[in-house]
Amino acid sequence: MGYICSNPNCKKKYPQMTSDGFCYEATCNGDYIVIEDQGGGGNPDRQIGLCILLMDASGSMQTTKPFEDKGNNSSLIDLVSRNVARAIFDLKNLTQGKAKDAYILALMFDDVVKELFFDSVDNLTTKHHSEGNFENFIKQELSNMGGGTDITTALEKAYTFYEQFIHNKINSLGEYTVLSQLDRGFNNNPINISNVRVLIYTDGNHNANSTLYSPFKDLDPDILMGAYFGEATDAGARELRNILGNCFKHNEKQFFLINNTEDYAQLKNLFRMASGASGFCPICLTNIKRG
Ligand SMILES: [Zn+2]
Ligand SMILES: [Zn+2]
Repeated sequence: MGYICSNPNCKKKYPQMTSDGFCYEATCNGDYIVIEDQGGGGNPDRQIGLCILLMDASGSMQTTKPFEDKGNNSSLIDLVSRNVARAIFDLKNLTQGKAKDAYILALMFDDVVKELFFDSVDNLTTKHHSEGNFENFIKQELSNMGGGTDITTALEKAYTFYEQFIHNKINSLGEYTVLSQLDRGFNNNPINISNVRVLIYTDGNHNANSTLYSPFKDLDPDILMGAYFGEATDAGARELRNILGNCFKHNEKQFFLINNTEDYAQLKNLFRMASGASGFCPICLTNIKRG
């Protein structure tokens, strides 16, 4: 099994994964990820959900140790790796047969964006055998980065993939439709919600040459959620909050602040909610914990 560019107008094949996970063809402009070539021919009845996880791997994520004063030496990267691995393994058990159709694209970013993985919950948990193995794999990959924080580029690359996905253009998935369901908004209007979510987390402010903006802002509903490690008053927290929309169900900002023990204890559930494409805001998260 080889690899293939996710751009349907390119489809360049690669015998091995490219070094950053993106296509090298000039026409793809570094915007399209390379994925496993599964040869197509999928089941037309297949309904797929997608989570795009945008993982901050900047230097501060490696050096910040929120519980150091309590004798716990875990860095933010350690905490994220552990909770992402746990969340995805949880999902395998909870969703049973659906683990094959719940896909996760994980992109890590500092000044540049690299693909960490694109696969189903089922394949990820099979490939990595155990939570501990998966945690170490994620930690190792994130630790290889460590530059600045370019949030806009990360969001743009996620948006490019999102567009391909909802237009059924991810060839390696074969024939599929995007999983969706009917729900009711906060004003009681019926609304069709696709099982597609994007979660970005960061501990800093956007420090590239571009302006911070979200290409997801014009979507209705806005599918971007943001989590911030630090204080509510930090410039990074305020900036991130500003580019996010409100939950269609609760009319609550799709923003998660993580700065105390209780918030950290929620991390696994937050990643699980995003990976299972099952909620948008802090109230959704509370309901999921109960349910
Ligand atoms: Zn390409
Ligand atoms: Zn909500």
